[in-house]
Amino acid sequence: MKKRTSDLLDRLSESATLAMAQMARELKDSGVDVISLSLGEPDFDTPSELKQAGIDSINANETHYTPVPGTQRVREAISKKFKRDNGLVYNSDQIVVSTGAKQSLANVILSLVNPGDEVILPAPFWVSYIELIKVAGGVPVILPTGIKEDYKINPEALEAAINEKTRMMIYSSPCNPSGSVYTKEETSKIADVLRKHDNMYTISDEIYELINFTSKHASLAAEPGMMDRVITVNGVSKGFAMTGWRLGYIGAPKWIADACTKIQGQFTSAPCSIAQAAAATAVEADPSIAHSMVAAFLRRRNAMHASLSKVPGINLNLPMGAFYLFPDVSKLFGKSFNGTTLNNSDDVAMFLIEEAHVATVSGAAFGTPECIRISYAAADEVLEEAVRRIEAAVSKLV
Ligand code: PMP
Ligand code: GLU
Repeated sequence: MKKRTSDLLDRLSESATLAMAQMARELKDSGVDVISLSLGEPDFDTPSELKQAGIDSINANETHYTPVPGTQRVREAISKKFKRDNGLVYNSDQIVVSTGAKQSLANVILSLVNPGDEVILPAPFWVSYIELIKVAGGVPVILPTGIKEDYKINPEALEAAINEKTRMMIYSSPCNPSGSVYTKEETSKIADVLRKHDNMYTISDEIYELINFTSKHASLAAEPGMMDRVITVNGVSKGFAMTGWRLGYIGAPKWIADACTKIQGQFTSAPCSIAQAAAATAVEADPSIAHSMVAAFLRRRNAMHASLSKVPGINLNLPMGAFYLFPDVSKLFGKSFNGTTLNNSDDVAMFLIEEAHVATVSGAAFGTPECIRISYAAADEVLEEAVRRIEAAVSKLV
């Protein structure tokens, strides 16, 4: 038999975050003492009341197919959450729950983007955005930012990137991978630009909403006139430490929610009924349920920022949310170890895993090749040891 995969598969890159996490796992299994700071997932357990909600749902035999966009209960709970936390009025028929926010993003992109349509991606962007755009045949238009502007776009650059082919923009705040948070004022200025363009939609990925060390979370759809132009993506993976439950959701104009439901009906029918029940309890809970986790992330951010800033060649911004550091490591390019020169961030990430036994992710996959991403969702003492190892490895570069 001739083995031939589809052209689509050949165009697609593997998820760099998942690939690096897998590499770290394999090294660990082979006996290497690797510290994995590659995967973006809280190291906490799902809060016990949310686990109990899942158990109760099994015992109540809520184990059948649900409506494609989710049970009425979870959609009503999310509708109330949007109103309570974000000032957004989405009726329950404007909510679609999916198997992780990753599927929510795929649904929206496949619903709106035609081959040849341009999709603006402020860089750094989360790795899967660009690949999902490729699946739809869209053309990613990357809007670079750097450490000087705290990895945030300015409205003029956004305006300049929009043309008649622009169909969409996708961004996250708090941002994976930079940890940057757009303030209310910055969000308003972006809305001022977007409001002028009737052919384009924006995915506002707010999955790190609860992990914000600064101002109140600003939702793009809450800006005047933006409800019809924005798809708000969120989920329970990050804020409630529920990555394995696989539950994400959107609030969107009804016609877009209906389109996503149509696609989802063919791909997965609906997300897991049990995860839907636990997610309803999560979004109904007082957001303070996440406070102790967020306090731990803030403590770690401060410690990691202070110690990594002292390592020569590593240049950091101070991230205001999520659980990532995104250092600019370009000062290390051109340096060598054992005769091998580090030419880019892929080389730096490989050097760190091989020499320091610390797994990070190269910034290239996030569209910012001068950086690496470090997830600090790990115990304090593990993080301290990771910095010690990075410092020792970097000091060997000549
Ligand atoms: N958006 C961003 C910015 C992310 O970092 C992630 C990673 N989990 C997702 C979406 C997808 O989350 P999930 O599928 O676990 O809900
Ligand atoms: N979103 C997480 C990350 O960026 C999880 C991995 C993934 O889904 O790609 O690491």
